[in-house]
Amino acid sequence: MTDKRMTDKRMTDKRMTDKKPIYHTILIIGGGLSGLRAAVAVHEAGQDVAVLSKVYPIRSHSGAAQGGVNAALGNHPEGHDDSWERHAFDTIKGADYLADQPRAEILAREAQERVLEMEHWGAYFSRFPNGRIAQRPFGGAGFPRTCYAADRTGHHLLHTLWEQCLRREIPFYNEWLVTRLVVDEGRCCGAIALHIPTGELHVFAAGAVIVAGGGHGRIYAKSSNAYINTGSATAAAYRAGVPLEDMAFVQFHPTTLYGTNILITEGVRGEGGYLLNADGERFMADYAPQVMELAPRDIVARAIQTEVAEGRGIGDGYVHLDVRHLGADVIQEHLPGIRQIAMDFAGVDPIETPIPVQPAQHYSMGGLACDENGETPLPGLFAIGECSCISVHGANRLGGNSLLETLVFGKRAGEQACRWACRWACRWACRWANQVASGGGIPQESALLSALHEEQAAIEALRARSTGERQIALRRQMQATMTDQVGVYREARSLAQAVETLAELKDRYRHVTLDHRGKAFNYDLVDTLELGGMLDLAQATALTALRRTECRGAHWRTDHPGRDDENWLKHSLATYVPGEPPRITYQDVIITRYEPSERGY
Ligand SMILES: Cc1cc2nc3c(=O)[nH]c(=O)nc-3n(C[C@H](O)[C@H](O)[C@H](O)COP(=O)(O)OP(=O)(O)OC[C@H]3O[C@@H](n4cnc5c(N)ncnc54)[C@H](O)[C@@H]3O)c2cc1C
Repeated sequence: MTDKRMTDKRMTDKRMTDKKPIYHTILIIGGGLSGLRAAVAVHEAGQDVAVLSKVYPIRSHSGAAQGGVNAALGNHPEGHDDSWERHAFDTIKGADYLADQPRAEILAREAQERVLEMEHWGAYFSRFPNGRIAQRPFGGAGFPRTCYAADRTGHHLLHTLWEQCLRREIPFYNEWLVTRLVVDEGRCCGAIALHIPTGELHVFAAGAVIVAGGGHGRIYAKSSNAYINTGSATAAAYRAGVPLEDMAFVQFHPTTLYGTNILITEGVRGEGGYLLNADGERFMADYAPQVMELAPRDIVARAIQTEVAEGRGIGDGYVHLDVRHLGADVIQEHLPGIRQIAMDFAGVDPIETPIPVQPAQHYSMGGLACDENGETPLPGLFAIGECSCISVHGANRLGGNSLLETLVFGKRAGEQACRWACRWACRWACRWANQVASGGGIPQESALLSALHEEQAAIEALRARSTGERQIALRRQMQATMTDQVGVYREARSLAQAVETLAELKDRYRHVTLDHRGKAFNYDLVDTLELGGMLDLAQATALTALRRTECRGAHWRTDHPGRDDENWLKHSLATYVPGEPPRITYQDVIITRYEPSERGY
């Protein structure tokens, strides 16, 4: 460890013992791709930055991404005419026109630079024989533009950015769970976090906070997401006052492994895999005759669900993904991870036997409302990555655009947070000087410490409670409710039931009790604290889905067929109201170049 890092560490240890706020100019919550990319950007801007993560960063869900990252590089023999404009158009059409168009354009325009930068930092990409980064076709894309590292793209990107952070000696607080954000005088000025190994609560002060907490797929029973994807950082920002945008739009990935719902990447279809029903038919011919298996995910997921519902599914509800015709060489070279997953978790070798697949929750299009620089309506708070809703994915995200989003907007938000914190720091420094001169304490320290004490008291009360329900019973009921009633196909009656069940679960949550009261690594406490936030996110999802009486992208209402631009070409915003259901308001979609039209494939 260098001298500087030792000094930093000694200072941090001392502040932790004193329970004084631990200060960083920019505090990033989340060590996935978006958090790490933002950390590099802040460091490049010469500002002090730290990353706080509830798991060791390279265990973040970004590392599980398989299929690839989009950029119109035009490397594929059939992709020479590709351009960032085509990429932007495909993204907006894929989004069923709910994306904010200037932001989708930024995503597509900055893609090449971000992907090549990753390559220059050492990311390992698969290559074409001419040495250029290999690209494969993905659903909803007009050209093959998904750059990949076999079927382990996220792993390679995450490790590359992690190396870049280590190289810059960016400090990390690993195994810290943020339970609450602190807002004082209308500004986010820090966070309260639980140090999981010791069970101690601490307070962090910051010039600006960036939330990069990832998705919240685990509010569903069937999900391709890691168990850590609970959305607790998103929930903390929601409770601090940031509205949740477009939560009704939940992506169900068409091909997750039957039984465990481990993801089977879209890259398998990109390589030429077929979807077959019980009669051995390539049923996508009936749903998207031109692009077949490479239709966007919402369309393929509904097709599978329909095949199963109409009796053409296999077993108790799956179809086959067949790659046998690709041959052993292609499977072993391009899809080695998928082959291993199929063999380990379903007992089938895709070289010889089709893979059993079914749709499951995969991605949260909705999230914390923010602009193209990650700036949320709460001053001092930024959001990036899957927890955010910059609104580039609208009603349905295209595969390969999420990894891209983490890189493009991670960088932008890191830079903007620096600009913001510098402006604030000037004001703060003047006030600090005046206050200290007149004998007062450091501004906002009292707000930070009183938030710490309140959180401490709430956790102590939970620890002391001796009777009540265990969190797991509530969690399972919430997950089953979301999968059964807020799934691929939706209608008013079951959505209303879900809203009611979630309200009842929130009520019961107030009386949960812990099985384990110890301090060190108390995951019973972690799970219980996180469940409160999951219920909030589930409620916002179900309620906005109930209110939206149309079909758009991933939100499919069987009782309201068809897209309704006249009434519903608008974003839904859910604002947290303590003790009550969220307040739902609406906001215009930013439409510039591309007039909404019918979305056919
Ligand atoms: C199986 C799978 C495969 C995928 N494949 C692709 C693909 O091929 N292409 C593509 O574009 N997209 C893919 N996606 C989506 C994409 O991987 C994710 O959307 C993206 O990586 C999310 O990055 P992130 O930085 O937002 O969050 P994550 O990588 O999920 O990181 C979240 C971080 O937040 C931290 N955190 C969360 N809550 C707290 C808290 N309360 N306190 C402290 N820390 C907290 C966690 O520790 C973690 O470090 C895939 C997703 C899955 C699930």
